[in-house]
Amino acid sequence: MDTARTKTESLSIAELRRYGRHLSLTEVGEEGQLRLKAGRVLLVGAGGLGSPLALYLAAAGVGTIGVVDFDEVEESNLQRQIAHGTSAVGRPKLASVAARLKDLNPHIAVECHELRLDRTNALDLVRRYDVVADGTDNFATRYLVNDACVLTGRPNVYGSILRFEGQASVFDATRGPCYRCVFPDPPPPGVVPSCAEAGVLGVLPGVIGSIQATETIKLLLGTGETLVGRLLLYDALEMSFHELRLKKDPACPVCGANPTIHELIDYDQFCGARPHEPEPIEMSVGELSDRLGRGEDLVVVDVREGFELAIARFPFALHIPLAQVERRAHELPRDRLVVLACHRGPRSLKALHTLRGQGFTRLRNLTGGIDAWSREVDRTVPRY
Ligand SMILES: [Zn+2]
Repeated sequence: MDTARTKTESLSIAELRRYGRHLSLTEVGEEGQLRLKAGRVLLVGAGGLGSPLALYLAAAGVGTIGVVDFDEVEESNLQRQIAHGTSAVGRPKLASVAARLKDLNPHIAVECHELRLDRTNALDLVRRYDVVADGTDNFATRYLVNDACVLTGRPNVYGSILRFEGQASVFDATRGPCYRCVFPDPPPPGVVPSCAEAGVLGVLPGVIGSIQATETIKLLLGTGETLVGRLLLYDALEMSFHELRLKKDPACPVCGANPTIHELIDYDQFCGARPHEPEPIEMSVGELSDRLGRGEDLVVVDVREGFELAIARFPFALHIPLAQVERRAHELPRDRLVVLACHRGPRSLKALHTLRGQGFTRLRNLTGGIDAWSREVDRTVPRY
């Protein structure tokens, strides 16, 4: 993007060898490869779309890849989130993807941002990059990413997936429509199911994420026809691609002639969403047993009453009765996974929502509580 920057750089012998197939493309060549090397791309999410994005951008030699994520790898992610391996289950996605990218291409830098992107941090972060590639799975973050990109003048390489269908575009308000021009209002909460609820074909994010990676690389190279002003629709069952022409909305509240949005807003409220998007918040007793067996550094909190502990207890759990969870939240670590447990599950789910309200992000509810533990893991624990 910045030609002054690229002129001062050069490619090492190792890079010339590695990028040989790019160098023989006249549309890339050494100059294009230097542009990629100077390029800074921010990936929002290291999940289904973020995986192929990260892998292909790293392989292509994009010099700096920033990744925003705060989640950890779960077994059910591996069906589609190909940057992560089985050995990474239980580890933060950022650490997992960073290790994979450094192994794939040691000539690039990976910048990890372990945070939930929100109105307080998005502008500063987006400003530090040339292109943003959106791999989020919820509407609140999608509008947030859009507005942050419009307000900072950055192109937003968009992709979304559900079941067997996906879509992609490039939203660049400096020369075309933004996401809000096309989708002015978020769907009512609950109308569009999440992939966790409705399912997603594992290879689908591979197709859409690879299209996003292609568009990102073209933006950095400044070559080809990008998806600015076009929405690409993909149906994996039909194996068909369709294209919609998109127009800039002159009345768009963020990129129109008289914008009303001049700074980032409350996107959870705008989307009518719960304060935090639903993620997989349950953990089975089998998974807990496996993870404890592997010596994972997680905290189990038993929110039952004292008399119940006298009947049956988890030997490894911290005890904070439900009624005390709010005022004793400071006793719990924010940087480790906290698994909440009760007799059968409902009270620990309440405790989980209480802790979410206090800003905890790494929480799980033990499905079926100690009763399930007794039935499925340790029959010596009495049932009651
Ligand atoms: Zn707009």
